[in-house]
Amino acid sequence: MTPIDIALQSELARLQSAHLLRRLRRIDSPCGPIVSIGGRAVILMASNDYLGLANAPELKRAAIDAIAAYGVGAGAARLISGTQPPHEHLESALALFKGTDAALCFGSGYLANIGLLSALVRSGDLILADRLCHASLFEGCRLSRATLRIYQHADLAQLERLLKRRGRVRRTLIVTDGLFSMDGDLAPLKELVDLGQRYDALLMVDDAHGTGVLGQEGRGSLEACGVERAVPFHMGTLGKALGSSGAYVVGTKALIQLLVNTARPFLFTTAPPAALPAAALTALQLVQQEPVRRSRLWANRERLYTRLCGLGFHLTATVSPILPVLIGDADKALHFSERLLESGVYAPAIRPPTVPRGSSRIRFTVTAAHTPDHLDHVIDACARAGRALRLI
Ligand code: PMP
Repeated sequence: MTPIDIALQSELARLQSAHLLRRLRRIDSPCGPIVSIGGRAVILMASNDYLGLANAPELKRAAIDAIAAYGVGAGAARLISGTQPPHEHLESALALFKGTDAALCFGSGYLANIGLLSALVRSGDLILADRLCHASLFEGCRLSRATLRIYQHADLAQLERLLKRRGRVRRTLIVTDGLFSMDGDLAPLKELVDLGQRYDALLMVDDAHGTGVLGQEGRGSLEACGVERAVPFHMGTLGKALGSSGAYVVGTKALIQLLVNTARPFLFTTAPPAALPAAALTALQLVQQEPVRRSRLWANRERLYTRLCGLGFHLTATVSPILPVLIGDADKALHFSERLLESGVYAPAIRPPTVPRGSSRIRFTVTAAHTPDHLDHVIDACARAGRALRLI
């Protein structure tokens, strides 16, 4: 072993002894309610494929047709080798759906957050971010070079104190997830809008988990909280309820033009293959034409939520199809997850740094594609594992 490998091995050993070592788990099937792990069919309870679209025939057809028409690789960034119709079609449809003037696609939500934050704020500006914001938002905050202050999760009083106390800054930006990815609760968007207006601060919402899931029409967390008109821009992803991959920012023409000109994760990276926006466009149509998928999702959510609470598990204050069962210790969460897998249920332990220390959990996500039988099986497996580990 080389000296660097010895050093790296000791870092891995440290992770292992803290029960924080991750291993990739191979699945030999498409993402869906049932996946194949080690030759066994198990119920997948961990995807963000909320509407069951990732393997839907309609999306596959759209992707295959786009490959036939435009090939596999985009060739370069859109400003370099040109922009193909599927990206533009999706952007027009997203802007229309979200009620904004314009939209821009990115290769992923991680990149969209970095691009949007760097376009909005810079050194000398102030960002106030919820402690439970997604890692990509914090990455974007750091890269923007603006001053970052973190407020406790959904703590409006602390946020207001920070707003009152700020010195002279060019621009203030409040940053939050709309629907928090690891807790499943909604940000207090109405109150955040109000604070933003009173203290002249912009609000940036990451709606990665809300789009297609929340709101009467599936437009997301802003619709669910009744603040769409008050929030002129936000971002979301295409790889969750929309079953594809990539992300978008929707907003005014000026914002989108600025992103095209200055967002480094747009300028300096190869455009997503045409198949991905083509599939996402089909998903967006299904979100609007087939609300039954959303009703099935919410019925499944209620079934699992009620039964998990009934068994005595401690859940977060979730209001969504993200149903995190709090366990605490990373090793106990790992044991719980292993027992579930023995019973044919796959839901990995979520541990630091994804969640704060001492709050390791099993983050169950239900989808529209799960059947009542799947969920009953999950409940039985949870009851057995929970009793064995004295969690209930
Ligand atoms: N924001 C949130 C809240 C997320 O949960 C995620 C993905 N887990 C992202 C952004 C990043 O999106 P992507 O997976 O498209 O990079």
